[in-house]
Amino acid sequence: MISEILKRIFYPDDFGCIVCSRRARTYKEHSGAAICDECIKTFLKADGFLCTKCGRKVGSEDSLCKMCAKNDFAFEKAASVYVYEGSVRTVVHKLKYSGEEWLANFAAAEMSKKYETLGWNCDFITFVPMYRAKERARGYNQAELLARNVAENTGIECLPALLRTKNTTPQSYLDTAERMANLTGAIKVSEEYKNKIENKRILVIDDILTTGSSLNECAKALIGAGAEKVYGLCMCSVSD
Ligand SMILES: [Zn+2]
Ligand SMILES: [Zn+2]
Repeated sequence: MISEILKRIFYPDDFGCIVCSRRARTYKEHSGAAICDECIKTFLKADGFLCTKCGRKVGSEDSLCKMCAKNDFAFEKAASVYVYEGSVRTVVHKLKYSGEEWLANFAAAEMSKKYETLGWNCDFITFVPMYRAKERARGYNQAELLARNVAENTGIECLPALLRTKNTTPQSYLDTAERMANLTGAIKVSEEYKNKIENKRILVIDDILTTGSSLNECAKALIGAGAEKVYGLCMCSVSD
């Protein structure tokens, strides 16, 4: 503690990198935190051979991942910025559980750049909803933070169009089959936004694409309410 305080006195503009603890000036310096350039360089980008549907990294060109080959997902396409491996996991974890909201700003900058390359022309942005009581306990929904930042960067409106109607078990505790079943019918279009969905192209934001089931449930609800197409954009995806 004392050494932290002394560091702040002698290096007032430097903050410990949240991944490696080295002092860093890079990126956002909110709440005395940063990510250093060295760590950013180690984050594995989701590029090369990607699933033609969900955008996760796959082993060969022009192929579907195992999940997309097995399921007829309701979303049109998805993309992500990073592969959920290595030190980027620390960043996601901090964003999710440690109130490091400024990280949404860091991740959303990359997500916005990616979106601009996709040509999806979405009419508005929304996000994978969190159960209300859970969101109150955490203080925020990280998917919403990402979505609001992407909206700000791209100039596309962000609407909280979806609601989670069941307090589902966290997906990270479940295997693939359980994840799919866990979410069935758990996401609905909010009454307030029902009349804004028809014939719209909608971008749904989330932090991690794992099985694709969260995104699929959102897409099913939106298409059920008349959306023309639903796309997904995530900070990370698990490779095939
Ligand atoms: Zn670092
Ligand atoms: Zn896929």
